Amino acid sequence: MNAPTNDELFARARAAIPGGVNSPVRAFRSVGGTPRFLVSARGAYVTDVEGREYVDLVAGWGPAILGHADPRVIEAVTDAASRGLSFGSSTPAETELAELVEARVAPVEQLRLVSTGTEATMSAIRLARGFTGRDLLVKFAGHYHGHSDGLLAEAGSGLATFALPGSAGVPAGIAALTLVLPYNDLDAVRAAFAEHGDRIAAVIVEAAAANMGVVPPEPGFNRALVELAHANGSLVISDEVLTGFRVSAAGWWGLEEGTAGEYSPDLLTFGKVIGGGMPVAALGGRADVMQQLAPLGPVYQAGTLSGNPVAVAAGVATLRSADAAVYAHLDAAAATISSEVSDALAAEGVAHAVQRAGNLFSFVFGEDVASGVRDYGGVQRQEAWRYPPFFHAMLDAGVSLPPSVFEAWFVTAAHDDAAIGRIVDALPAAARAAASA
Ligand code: PMP
Repeated sequence: MNAPTNDELFARARAAIPGGVNSPVRAFRSVGGTPRFLVSARGAYVTDVEGREYVDLVAGWGPAILGHADPRVIEAVTDAASRGLSFGSSTPAETELAELVEARVAPVEQLRLVSTGTEATMSAIRLARGFTGRDLLVKFAGHYHGHSDGLLAEAGSGLATFALPGSAGVPAGIAALTLVLPYNDLDAVRAAFAEHGDRIAAVIVEAAAANMGVVPPEPGFNRALVELAHANGSLVISDEVLTGFRVSAAGWWGLEEGTAGEYSPDLLTFGKVIGGGMPVAALGGRADVMQQLAPLGPVYQAGTLSGNPVAVAAGVATLRSADAAVYAHLDAAAATISSEVSDALAAEGVAHAVQRAGNLFSFVFGEDVASGVRDYGGVQRQEAWRYPPFFHAMLDAGVSLPPSVFEAWFVTAAHDDAAIGRIVDALPAAARAAASA
């Protein structure tokens, strides 16, 4: 019997699983068509169930900085698995992972491991509330911090509006504790503190926004956030789940050190690269804040699979292998790919801007946004309909892009000249498709 096709598997999946997927964006809703059912991945490539190989610019949504199935990571995982899958007890490797992070990111004095980015941000917020004794949280429109109730709040119109629930099932009372502000707008932050300062526990911010496409913070924005928060007795949670250990050895914080000025977020959250493709995430930061966590302090947080030995082995092997050469390669690959895409679009007369934050990048389409965007409103002004035909032309030519214009593109250390060449070859037809959309 022949192997099933993507279409057949998607039909089966939709009967068994809501929408056929275990995380919404995988369903291709915004680009249309059938998601590819992947069966293997190696280096810069993924292979679907029909035996088609694609150059991958999703990288598991970020973790695979070394490339898929890096032998050092696979060996570490295999070795750990052979010694048992889960102990629910302390292990030497979890301390090693904490030490690796603390050596890279100076504001992290102590680290607690969890399994997902959602858990990391949810716990960081509870910790900030416990530490400050305050309830309100500030977040920015278009920033994603996982799917816990209070973080799904979306922007109301205008400044410092108490949010409406961004998802059914979020109690209004919880959403009302989240204040949603426009990104890169320090006046909005000042106004929020002026009005509610003594009630704000924390400001949570993506270190560089990359979940509405890429929208970097303006120089000095993150540092000013820390200053404003501290002047009001609030904490800053810098969410580096996506940027951490990807845009530099010390994440976005490391990139800004010495350029946009020094600052120390009180708490930082990590995910993706820290687990090298396995379920590891973490929250870390000031020791005096971190020590409010149970068992030392009154803020409860726990997890059966926290610090899981197989997952931690992947994280340790990934961080140990992610050296300066890896980051130099990621930067170079991102620069080449983003400028090749930009040139191809320009050649077809498609107005666009390249949005970049270190080696993360994405594109916005249209004259209105051709000088770049700085917030969620800007991102939404683009000609988003140009992306689906571009995406499908690339996919047909064997290049897998994020299936939404509102996602970052991810490169890996395995994106060599051959892989980049395949991307470049696919671009003219994709740019034509975007032009005629
Ligand atoms: N924070 C940021 C900045 C993220 O990009 C994500 C996931 N894309 C999360 C939190 C949530 O992480 P997870 O999907 O592991 O729960």
